[in-house]
Amino acid sequence: MGRTAERTEWGGRRDLRFAIVGAGMAGILSAIRLKEAGLTDFTVYEKADRLGGTWRENTYPGLACDVPSHLYSYSFALTPELSRRYSPGGEIQGYLERVARDYEVDRHMRFGDEVACCELATGRWRLETAAGHRDEVDVVIAATGVLHHPRLPEIDGLDDFEGAMFHSSRWDHEVPLDGARIGIIGTGSTAVQIASALVDRAAKLSLFQRTAQWVLQQENPPYTRDDRAAFRQNPAQLTELHETLSHLFGVFANAIVDADSPEMEMIADACRANLEDNVRDPELRERLRPDYRAACKRLVVSPDFYEAIQRPNAELVTEGIERIESAGVRTREGRLHELDVLVLATGFKVDAFMRPMAVVGRDGQTLEHLWSARPNAYLSISIPGFPNFFMLNGPNGPVGNFSLIEVAELQMAYIMQLVERLRSGACREISATREAMEQFEAARVEAAKKTVWMTGCRSWYLDDRGIPATWPWSFDRFRAEMRAPEPTAFEYR
Ligand SMILES: Cc1cc2nc3c(=O)[nH]c(=O)nc-3n(C[C@H](O)[C@H](O)[C@H](O)COP(=O)(O)OP(=O)(O)OC[C@H]3O[C@@H](n4cnc5c(N)ncnc54)[C@H](O)[C@@H]3O)c2cc1C
Repeated sequence: MGRTAERTEWGGRRDLRFAIVGAGMAGILSAIRLKEAGLTDFTVYEKADRLGGTWRENTYPGLACDVPSHLYSYSFALTPELSRRYSPGGEIQGYLERVARDYEVDRHMRFGDEVACCELATGRWRLETAAGHRDEVDVVIAATGVLHHPRLPEIDGLDDFEGAMFHSSRWDHEVPLDGARIGIIGTGSTAVQIASALVDRAAKLSLFQRTAQWVLQQENPPYTRDDRAAFRQNPAQLTELHETLSHLFGVFANAIVDADSPEMEMIADACRANLEDNVRDPELRERLRPDYRAACKRLVVSPDFYEAIQRPNAELVTEGIERIESAGVRTREGRLHELDVLVLATGFKVDAFMRPMAVVGRDGQTLEHLWSARPNAYLSISIPGFPNFFMLNGPNGPVGNFSLIEVAELQMAYIMQLVERLRSGACREISATREAMEQFEAARVEAAKKTVWMTGCRSWYLDDRGIPATWPWSFDRFRAEMRAPEPTAFEYR
């Protein structure tokens, strides 16, 4: 049952107790940073039976990081042992497990314990888990993920299918794939990775495309034994590589918020060249050609998707799905695509964040009510009226083809500065002011209208109003903003 933190106070300094919700990449990071700061009174609540978040949940064939994995690594825990430029998913899961162990934060984790409710009561957060465990903490860090709650397609007859059917993040490894007739609904990064991985195993692979994607061709070479030995001998080389990649992807991130930048044009040219050079059949090429600008939707990165979809046993189906039937997928022109396996690579409910967890802030205000139109937070970290409740990878943060680890590290460094104010005794409660939140949001929405995400495509970046729910400025600006909290943006009590 819930423990009451021992709270000593002297010279204004306070001992603080923390709850971190979620043991994915961001929860592990939070735990490490707290521990490094000497704040060891914390529990990481994880509803699953293992850490890893995204990389535990997604085990589909072909899963790989789509930014170079030396960038998709904690800056303080770079590893020489990566097998490829873009690590396979299992390797990232192994990496996260190892880091949690090395930094001895795994022992703070409670698995199989979903936080159901967080309620502010007399300046502290009372937590209750689905299993009935209670805790009381000074600070909550919500590291509950974005691409976490599977989104199923709204297609008639979904339940009628008699073959094996599952969402890409709930892969059923019992289902035989060799020689099977496999259908994939969706054409985002996940669908493309699965298609490339399975085309040689399937008797027939049908990819049901609603929207064509721009595909950036990137080779995925292995690191040789010599490469890894060199990294081991010279760790500075790893740091240099991380920094170079961070700079390069920073340029990319800057480009995507400026639809007319020369870098954006270079990216578009590279995608066009991939399509023109690598798809032979002009009719197929046109069906694969998007009718919107590159990077309006998340760019798909793949070494070999066009090669895969041109295999004799592969079919790109663009007729539109009429309904799912017991034997397969019927498309609008009346054809039945008979299938043994149907994979729903249809993405995630990206506006759920920590919900369904109930969060009740000051004066009984609920997050559910506050976010009933759409989720919102100051700098995606703090919510007015929800003091000492901070989020990593929260609403409207940076998204795109770069490392969310880098984003989370910057956010956590910012949060730690707020935590230091609490620890120093300067105040007992911190949350963004309503004015700061409103000004930030108004500026964000205006800036978002000028980004490439608003140039005429339908994507998961867009909210219910069609406004990109993302950080709309450059990555340099994000870094600068994360350097230190603006004192007037916060209310201290
Ligand atoms: C297929 C796929 C590929 C991706 N590839 C990349 C990539 O190449 N580069 C990149 O930067 N990003 C990528 N991402 C994004 C990826 O989600 C992030 O990089 C990162 O893993 C997010 O970490 P997180 O800790 O914020 O969230 P998550 O990994 O989602 O972890 C959240 C954790 O919180 C737990 N949790 C949630 N609610 C509760 C609760 N109430 N109580 C207890 N526990 C709870 C969940 O079980 C989960 O373990 C990818 C995502 C997907 C789905």
